[in-house]
Amino acid sequence: MTGQQARQAEQTIHAGGEWHPAVSGATREILDPADALPFAVVAEGDEKDTDLAVAAAHRAFDGGRGEWSLTPVAERAALLRRVADLLVRDREKLGLLESRDAGKTVEEGRVDIDCVADAFRYFADLVAAEGPGRVVDAGSTDIHSVVVHEPVGVCALITPWNYPLLQASWKIAPALAAGNTFVVKPSEITPLTTIALIELLVEAGLPAGVANIVTGPGHSVGARLAEHPDVDLVSFTGGLVSGTKVAQTAAPTVKKVALELGGKNPNVVFADACATDEAFDTAVDQALNAAFIHSGQVCSAGARLIVEESVRDRFVAELARRAQKIRLGRGTAEGVECGPLVSEQQRAKVEAYVESALEEGAVLRSGGKRPEPSADRPESGYFYEPTVLDHCHREMRVVREEVFGPVLTVETFRTEDEAVALANDTEYGLAGAVWTADAGRARRVAGRLRHGTVWINDFHPYLPQAEWGGFGKSGVGRELGPAGLAEYRESKHVYQNLAPKPVRWFAG
Ligand code: NAD
Repeated sequence: MTGQQARQAEQTIHAGGEWHPAVSGATREILDPADALPFAVVAEGDEKDTDLAVAAAHRAFDGGRGEWSLTPVAERAALLRRVADLLVRDREKLGLLESRDAGKTVEEGRVDIDCVADAFRYFADLVAAEGPGRVVDAGSTDIHSVVVHEPVGVCALITPWNYPLLQASWKIAPALAAGNTFVVKPSEITPLTTIALIELLVEAGLPAGVANIVTGPGHSVGARLAEHPDVDLVSFTGGLVSGTKVAQTAAPTVKKVALELGGKNPNVVFADACATDEAFDTAVDQALNAAFIHSGQVCSAGARLIVEESVRDRFVAELARRAQKIRLGRGTAEGVECGPLVSEQQRAKVEAYVESALEEGAVLRSGGKRPEPSADRPESGYFYEPTVLDHCHREMRVVREEVFGPVLTVETFRTEDEAVALANDTEYGLAGAVWTADAGRARRVAGRLRHGTVWINDFHPYLPQAEWGGFGKSGVGRELGPAGLAEYRESKHVYQNLAPKPVRWFAG
């Protein structure tokens, strides 16, 4: 590590520029999901550690008079770009760490780090290009009226385990670009790359107290952050149940709350998207990728295949054939395409969903079980085979609820209206796709889908310049894009009367 202070293994709490162990002295072992063996140890913080970190962030913000908030925008942008360069320098190391911590392949880990660097560059460019405020026409040359944007204050950033550093960067980069201070709480099971990012922020020259981290569980550290009176904003990414609790816990202090929650994302395939062998191959390949990348532990996973009835049999047969060939194993092993699930608990949840689906009448086309162990796939690892469940319908739990694992359900439709109705029949609304060769239909269907991201003839890409977030119970607010920066700001209207005169509303 290259920060100013040498950090002991369990000193993973950073508050006020210093690395600490937990006040209680408690620690947690971090397990490699590929073999369930511990490979790192971190501090298990609680409310006391959280209070210390919030106090440090509060002091550093100092009501907006802190060093960072007053740093000129060009310098803030330059620091974010330095962080992006450091991420590129450490790409191999961080990609490997993300792979071991979250169970993804090393190549997925590397891609994550590239995307993290992109987020830092994007928000640097966005703030650097802004003017000093928006002049408002007040209808008189005697009035100068301008709307300026100021940092919110102390931001609590709570993140999940599936894309640990990527989700953190979508919060940390805009929070810093806007001039805030923050306390980040990574998932208790995947904190390692977020700790490493804090080291890079220190190395890049961020003033002490601006970037703080508390490692520890949601019920103590996360809940304390949400309720803390000196936290001005809480931005949470995670599941619906925890997100609802965060909103409730935060309500009495009337802080800003942003929630990025789950999804149950439809992938709608019209028959005309399969008209040629090449088009069919692409649609099947992308449906496979939509559902099974990172073992389906993706908020925007295309877990619901909604396919036109006339092509269903051919499409599902080919999909199941390819799903069976996906090479499962330890993310660091050569040639592995898909890693394990993140934890025993997550695999048990997936197994329960598959069991309930089969009881409710789904037909198993592939997977539905743990794979045979092999050299790259220890028996103790949390592996589960990519699973295709045919003949599903909207009343099944597996179709309605977020499984967050390698499970693809298949439903069919006959008309465009039916396809749209099925795709919108979810309490979530994070993302969805439509596959068709008919450009008019593509635009019509995309226009009718109630989801925050809609792909036409594609699945999964996102752009840092474009807002990310959900309709319905997929969340409140947006990350990325200009709106993802606006989350971390307060608007202030400054109205200046250049020629003040009495109002004479009152006669006396
Ligand atoms: P989770 O809700 O269990 O945990 C998320 C974070 O919240 C963790 O850091 C956890 O410790 C913390 N937490 C838990 N209970 C809390 C509480 N009461 N108060 C405060 N913090 C608390 O989610 P997870 O299992 O880590 O992640 C998977 C979920 O994240 C899925 O539902 C997935 O869809 C969602 N997700 C959404 C997006 C998105 O962009 N919308 C991106 C990634 C993941």
